[in-house]
Amino acid sequence: MDLFEYQARDLFAKHDVPVLAGEVIDTPEAAREVTERLGGRAVVKAQVKVGGRGKAGGVKLAADPADAVEKAGAILGMDIKGHTVHKVMLAQTADIAEEYYVSFLLDRTNRTFLAMASVEGGVDIEEVAATKPEALARIAVDAIDGVTEEKAREIVEAAAFPAEVKDQIVAALQKLWDVFIKEDALLVEVNPLVKTGEGRIIALDGKVSLDANAEFRQADHAALEDKAAANPLEAAAKAKGLNYVKLEGEVGIIGNGAGLVMSTLDVVAYAGEKHAGVKPANFLDIGGGASAEVMANGLEIILGDPEVKSVFVNVFGGITACDAVANGIVQALELLKSKGEDVSKPLVVRLDGNNAELGRKILTDANHPLVEQVDTMDGAADRAAELAAK
Ligand code: GDP
Ligand code: MN
Repeated sequence: MDLFEYQARDLFAKHDVPVLAGEVIDTPEAAREVTERLGGRAVVKAQVKVGGRGKAGGVKLAADPADAVEKAGAILGMDIKGHTVHKVMLAQTADIAEEYYVSFLLDRTNRTFLAMASVEGGVDIEEVAATKPEALARIAVDAIDGVTEEKAREIVEAAAFPAEVKDQIVAALQKLWDVFIKEDALLVEVNPLVKTGEGRIIALDGKVSLDANAEFRQADHAALEDKAAANPLEAAAKAKGLNYVKLEGEVGIIGNGAGLVMSTLDVVAYAGEKHAGVKPANFLDIGGGASAEVMANGLEIILGDPEVKSVFVNVFGGITACDAVANGIVQALELLKSKGEDVSKPLVVRLDGNNAELGRKILTDANHPLVEQVDTMDGAADRAAELAAK
């Protein structure tokens, strides 16, 4: 999960990384009072989860409270690379003498963590990295040892930070490493890390990406989720513990096993080319032990998608045999009906694998008016696409 800058700043402050005071607002008028509180001047910064805000005009200095209202008004509602600005952060202005770059990230290729640092930070860091790779120091960080003072000094030396700020940067790097490890982050980036006119080191902009796999031990992180941006179907699926991703098509997909579901998306997209260009409406993997309840939850989410015109249930029986899945489908349809859900979209079911014969018989005997069986994956995909195109 990527965080907004102000959320990253809050995490930095929590771990004693030096930052400047700031407040988030969503109306221009609110800028007046906040700017007064911040000492009469402020930097107005668009809060969007995309880089390059400065270059896009999303970071502006305001000389006084009235100016802050005007700048906030100009930035709120702005479109930055397809992201609409709904919130701005007003922060204390920094007197910038130099702009540096530091980051920690997971280096999957080398199976380690990586520290990157440069004395040439700022809005052109991508260009620096591309044209002058030697100006961006890269130091591997061992997962067990972490960023000790010794490691922090190694990073500082490699990037050749000026002597007068070395100690402050060594301290800041260790605190940023605390953010990285204690918050289970996959990325902690500070650009710019500035040296002020007085020689203080401050993290002026932060980018943090948290590891969703660590949610179970990071109870505070749920509150950082951008509820407004979340797709309501995905949010509902998440609440039910389902592995669901909303897509833009018309054929609802349920399958067991991520690989099977991925290939189901492909065959449906392919079949759709012959049927008015319909496409898969979602990814949903109900996993190995698909009970009637899980099937009902899955169907409920998919049938609740107004874009969905037909549903393709593609199951390869393994540990959970096809008869159990077939019973699950029958019970799920009854469960949804008893809950007053609108079950009016056709379901194409393909069962194969363990106990497929038995599973098919259960569905045939149930004789549900909306359920149709097709024995092959390609055939079922074609039929589901055809029904969706009607
Ligand atoms: P980004 O473009 O999304 O990375 O946004 P940043 O927060 O990094 O801001 C971009 C640039 O704006 C920085 O590199 C600074 O040069 C400048 N900037 C940001 N905050 C201040 C500030 O408080 N004072 C001054 N003088 N410049 C700032
Ligand atoms: Mn930046």
